[in-house]
Amino acid sequence: VNLPQDFLNSLDSIPGLSDPTSLKKSLDDQASVSIRINPSKLKQRPIHLPEVSWSQLGYYLEERPSFTADPWFHAGAYYVQEASSMAVGSVIASLISKHFANQSICILDLCAAPGGKSTDIVSQLRSDDLLVSNEVVKTRAQILKENVIKWGYANHLVTQNDPGDFKNVDGIFDIVVVDAPCSGEGMFRKDHDARSEWSLDHVALCGARQERIVADIWDSLSEGGFLLYSTCTFNTRENEDILDFVKTELGGELYSLDLGDWYHEDRIHRFLPSEIKGEGFSFFVARKTTPQSVAKIKHKVQGIRHDQFRIKRDGVFVQKEDEVFFQTHPKITALMDRFLKLIRPGLHVGTTKKNKWIPSHELALSVDYQNDFPEVALTIDQAHQYLRCDTFPLEVEQKGIHLVKFKGQSIGFLNHLGNRFNNNYPSYWRIRTQVDLNYTSIF
Ligand code: SAM
Repeated sequence: VNLPQDFLNSLDSIPGLSDPTSLKKSLDDQASVSIRINPSKLKQRPIHLPEVSWSQLGYYLEERPSFTADPWFHAGAYYVQEASSMAVGSVIASLISKHFANQSICILDLCAAPGGKSTDIVSQLRSDDLLVSNEVVKTRAQILKENVIKWGYANHLVTQNDPGDFKNVDGIFDIVVVDAPCSGEGMFRKDHDARSEWSLDHVALCGARQERIVADIWDSLSEGGFLLYSTCTFNTRENEDILDFVKTELGGELYSLDLGDWYHEDRIHRFLPSEIKGEGFSFFVARKTTPQSVAKIKHKVQGIRHDQFRIKRDGVFVQKEDEVFFQTHPKITALMDRFLKLIRPGLHVGTTKKNKWIPSHELALSVDYQNDFPEVALTIDQAHQYLRCDTFPLEVEQKGIHLVKFKGQSIGFLNHLGNRFNNNYPSYWRIRTQVDLNYTSIF
C-alpha cells in the first residue's frame, strides 16, 4: 500500500520536521523489535542486549523470535513493545520524582488496551501508589486485563468504561494518561491497514474525538495534576490542536519536562522513525492549575481475615461471593466499583469451594505473592505442554497444589493427585497453535 498523497503533502507543515524526505523513506524500512522487562520479575538485566536510550527498562532484539514459544513471555517477565512508546514510563518516573516524592498518587491510564503503557507505568510506581487502567472496548478490555494479570501487580485495577463515565470521580487522579485513538501515521510501516484507512476526513474525525476525550476526563484530574497526552501520529490536528484545546477550553498549562538529551523541549515532542530506532510517537504534558473539587471517598470496606495465601504488601482481603481479592487501596477501589465497571478489583487470590481454597492463576503470576506451596520446575517441552493446558507424566514428592516454574519464573499452578495432575492453567489463555514451538531464550 502506497503512502497516501494527502499525508505526504501534510508532512511539510509539521513543526520541527526538518527533513520530510527521510521521514517518508524511513516509513518503508523494517520496524525494529523491542521488549521491556518486568523489573519485579527479572532481577538481572539482559546486559548483552542494546538498550532503548530513553527507557530504563527497554531493549532491542536483533530479530523477532517466537514469543509464543517462550514461557517467560507468558509469565509476564517482559512485554513486547514498540520502543518510542516506552517514553511514557520515563515521563511518569520524572513527574513522580519531581512532584510527588513525598506523596502517594493515583494514576488513570484512560485508553489502556492492550496494556503496553500501563505495564510500564505500574513498574515505575512505589508500593503505595495506585494505577487504574481503563479501556472502553469490551474485547480489548479483556486483553488488557490478561496483560495486567501477567505483569502481576496488586496495586493495579482495570475498568471498562467510556471516558464520560469518569465524571463521577472528580479530582481523584494526580496523573491522567490519554494515549488517544488516532489516525496512526506513526504506525505506517508496522501496520499497512493504517495506510489504507488514513484520510484527511479520518484525521478530522480523530481530532474531534480526542477533544471530546480530554474534555470528558478533565474533571477527574486533581488540582495541580498532570495530563500526559500521546498519539502514534505526526499531524498537528491530533497533537498541537489538542494542546491548544486543553489550554484554551480547559485551562491547562503546557508543562516542560526535564528528561535528558533525547527530549526536545518543543510544545509537542515527536519521535520520528527517520531519527530514532522506533515508530512515530508524539506527546505533551499539561498541568491543571485551576481549582477542582474532589469526590468524597467515604466507603466502609469490610475486610476479612485470610491466612491461606501470603501477600508481601499492605492491603486488605475482600470477599465477593466465593472469590477473594487483595486490595491495596480498598476505599478508592470501592469508589471505582460504585461508579465504574471494575473488571479487576484488585489481585484475585483464590476461590473457596466446600471449605477448601483454590489459589487463582493470578496469584501464581503476582510479584506480590509469597509462595508457600511446593514448587516444580518444568523442562521446555513440559512447559509447552503445560501452557497448552495438557497433562503429562510428572513425578513430585507430595500430592496437592504446586507452583509451576520454568527457569525460575512462575507460570501457574497444578494440583497433583498422586498418579496424575490437574492443570490449573486458564483454558482461555492456553497456547492454541498446533505448529511446533521453536524456543530460543532471549535472556
Ligand atoms: N495505551 C495502549 C498501549 O500502550 O497498549 C494503546 C492504546 S490505543 C493507541 C487507543 C485505545 O483507545 C484503543 O484501545 C481503543 O480501543 C481505545 N478507544 C477507541 N475509541 C475510544 C474512545 N472514544 N474513548 C476512549 N478510548 C477509545
